[in-house]
Amino acid sequence: LVSRKWKVNRTAIDLGDGVLIGDGHFAMMAGPCSIEGEENIEKTIQHLKENDIKIMRGGVYKPRSSPYSFRGMGIDGLKLWYKAARENGIKIVTEVMQVSQIAEMYDYVDIYQVGARNTQNFNLLDELGKVDKPVMIKRGISGTIDELLYSAEYVFAGGNERLLLCERGIRTYEKASRNTFDINAIPILKEKTHLPVIADPSHGVGIRDYVEPVALAATVAGADGVIFEIHEKPEKAFSDGQQTLDFEESAKLIRKMRALKELE
Ligand code: PEP
Ligand code: MN
Repeated sequence: LVSRKWKVNRTAIDLGDGVLIGDGHFAMMAGPCSIEGEENIEKTIQHLKENDIKIMRGGVYKPRSSPYSFRGMGIDGLKLWYKAARENGIKIVTEVMQVSQIAEMYDYVDIYQVGARNTQNFNLLDELGKVDKPVMIKRGISGTIDELLYSAEYVFAGGNERLLLCERGIRTYEKASRNTFDINAIPILKEKTHLPVIADPSHGVGIRDYVEPVALAATVAGADGVIFEIHEKPEKAFSDGQQTLDFEESAKLIRKMRALKELE
């Protein structure tokens, strides 16, 4: 069902209010790794508005390698964020980690994100198949492209056709970067499926200085959007500060991506 053999025309995901992703609509999504509180939310929204970005990312349920790391503000954080986002015409993409959170989060999300650690949580995918909100599935930590497509197939087969796929790097033997961003995945996924393909250069490379070149490469490779981490003070971020752009770097990246899209 996610194959272009089944549907030749590309799928666009409509978030309402004129915000579309895919089929010629390039989307930028930016925000902190973790939602940290009111000030963090407000500063981020202000930056997004200044740069005409309509979709904000951020985790309130965080899958952390160590149980002692910051694990997110939970549903209360999401409610705070939602209120501020709606007042400013901003859409929300955020990670859902387990089945019970789907209903709890429903009123406050525009796109449910399935994280790389949950790509093959088939029960979660089954349940997201029953939801009438878009879902973005990230490629598994060591997942193949076909495995990502099968995960998408679960949601689609369950009845939810509003899906996005996200390349976020895979674990390889290379240790010079956090993950190895698989640029090949972009044209391959675009060839194989009709779904929008999003690039996450932040987790893909994991090093702040390299986020921009990887984001630009993915844009040229044909991604339908880029999702990246930003923070008013990356060195103070509660999570993933080492791969997070400050607002100046973010604005520069946004300008460059727009310039590349203009060339098409
Ligand atoms: C994230 O987007 O903050 C995240 C945890 O990503 P991933 O699931 O790709 O590691
Ligand atoms: Mn992160």
